[in-house]
Amino acid sequence: MLVFEAKLQGTDGQYRAMDEALRTARFVRNSCLKYWMDNQGIGRYDLNKYCKVLADNPEFPWVKKLNSMARQSMAERAWSAIAKFFDNCQKHLPGKKGYPRFKKHQTRASVEYKTSGWKLTSDRRSITFTDGFEAGTFKLWGTRDLHYYQIEQIKRVRVVRRADGYYAQFCLNVERKELREPTFKTIGLDVGLTHFYSDSDGTTIENPRHLRKSEKSLKRLSRRMSRTKLGSNNRAKLRNKLARKHLKVSRQRKDFAVKLARCVVQSNDLVAYEDLKVKNMVRNRHLAKSISDAAWTQFRSWVEYFGKVFGVVTVAVPPHYTSQNCSNCGKVVKKALSVRTHICTQCGHTQDRDWNAARNILEKGLRTVGHTGTSVRLRSPSVVEVNASGETDQYLGEETPPSKSTRGKRKPKE
Ligand SMILES: [Zn+2]
Repeated sequence: MLVFEAKLQGTDGQYRAMDEALRTARFVRNSCLKYWMDNQGIGRYDLNKYCKVLADNPEFPWVKKLNSMARQSMAERAWSAIAKFFDNCQKHLPGKKGYPRFKKHQTRASVEYKTSGWKLTSDRRSITFTDGFEAGTFKLWGTRDLHYYQIEQIKRVRVVRRADGYYAQFCLNVERKELREPTFKTIGLDVGLTHFYSDSDGTTIENPRHLRKSEKSLKRLSRRMSRTKLGSNNRAKLRNKLARKHLKVSRQRKDFAVKLARCVVQSNDLVAYEDLKVKNMVRNRHLAKSISDAAWTQFRSWVEYFGKVFGVVTVAVPPHYTSQNCSNCGKVVKKALSVRTHICTQCGHTQDRDWNAARNILEKGLRTVGHTGTSVRLRSPSVVEVNASGETDQYLGEETPPSKSTRGKRKPKE
């Protein structure tokens, strides 16, 4: 699955129509959720059926305006929130189980059309939305060309509203594969506290400076906003400015993750890293790592994505003892987080703490793959998608994952 993104250019009136569609989509999702809360034991198909009931209800005439498949996909979204909650309960996860909540109004909103409700013009540089909101024809601004693909390959069109405008995401049913010469190199990565990662060759990658810079200006701007009067024009202006800045930072972070991940995957035949789980990070050395977790998780899913694209093995190894063991002789050398150098009491091996850990991670990774005998990934790579600007759009949180029945059909078993 590939995602191309393009910015939508239209008139103010068109954007207002799009706002209506987005608001209706949210209404359908929330109504489905309410219906589930009021009726114990109903399933996903009941929610799909409920969409029709909603559309036929004269109290909500606007629901019918939304394309029927878009209504369905909002019901699916409600269901995926419910399913996630059930899943968490079944697994007996400690802490909160994530009981589904109603979506409030936000700048960031999206509505998902499937194969109807929209039409590309013959030159494929504009898109027309044909449902009851009559948003009309928008010009598409993007770097990717939709000409290379069949219209039938476009499985979904998602409209996303962000602080700096409206975007269309085209989800294409295309498997991305690229050829690459083997490099006969392997690498282990250790997430650092002070730097982004250390690898098993002793190279460290620093956290990018420009990100730190923009994080500083973000803080300054949010302080300025907090001093303005509630509900004032000035505040609204600053809020938008702040939201745009946040967008910029997240795009920079994404850009960094994508480029680094691609580079690591292309120059190695195997990439090993720790299988860090945020929930398990309490009361051990990983606690401090959770700070850099967001950036790391994103980087990791890109590594897994590119691993699939380029045919490179990616292994997530259990994080136990990776920093305590000696990478030379295997002896456990206990050390506090503040001890930055590993000195083995048995063989005298001395190495930077993170470098030592990265070597252990690589060793563990190679061992795991050796056991299975094939290039097996411990975790199936999460659904990561690339869009026009080279950003990802992972199906996390509120986005609809492909429904279960189609999931199997799309991806044949390896
Ligand atoms: Zn040793």
